Amino acid sequence: MVAEATLAVEAIPAAEAGATECNRHEHRRKLAGYELLKLAAILQTHTAFNAPVSDAINAFYLATLMIRSFRKPNPRTEYRLRRTDQINSSPTLSEKFPKLKLLRVTVDFFDSSGVTRTGGMKYKVNLAHGRSLLSFNCVHPECIGGDYDLTEQLAQAIADKRKVVEGELRCQGTRYNKERKQEKPCQSILRYKLTLGY
Ligand SMILES: [Zn+2]
Repeated sequence: MVAEATLAVEAIPAAEAGATECNRHEHRRKLAGYELLKLAAILQTHTAFNAPVSDAINAFYLATLMIRSFRKPNPRTEYRLRRTDQINSSPTLSEKFPKLKLLRVTVDFFDSSGVTRTGGMKYKVNLAHGRSLLSFNCVHPECIGGDYDLTEQLAQAIADKRKVVEGELRCQGTRYNKERKQEKPCQSILRYKLTLGY
């Protein structure tokens, strides 16, 4: 279980594409806490009838529950954790697409006008570790529930034996401005290029 939790934490960079170093660190910290809660829940279930051990486990579990109840709910973080979980539980690329031998990804983030570039990255995916749920976080700091999911585009490209696929996606998340108490659709843009080898 500890090994699994460590693996999940290590897998974050792919899910956190475009995040600043500081955000990534913060996210790692929160995810580590989240994994700890899951671990506590599992341990408690498994040792429910073993009194000496379960006393200690119960104390630990209650402590983690208390920490969780004191923590301010943050819809943005909660959404990220849910998505990271989905990504980490999806099959790896080499499991899902055994014929795929190379995948390079280029993504560029733009504002909703499509004119101002707000970030981007270019990298070669490790097929043995990279997940088949290919998703990039929206980089807008006020966006909740937003990301760019390229899973379908990737699967279709492989099914069609395409070597290069380019396109654009709009973020379907919502921007929530705390001070002005305003909500509006995010609509930021991701331009992507997938280069594939078989
Ligand atoms: Zn967004």
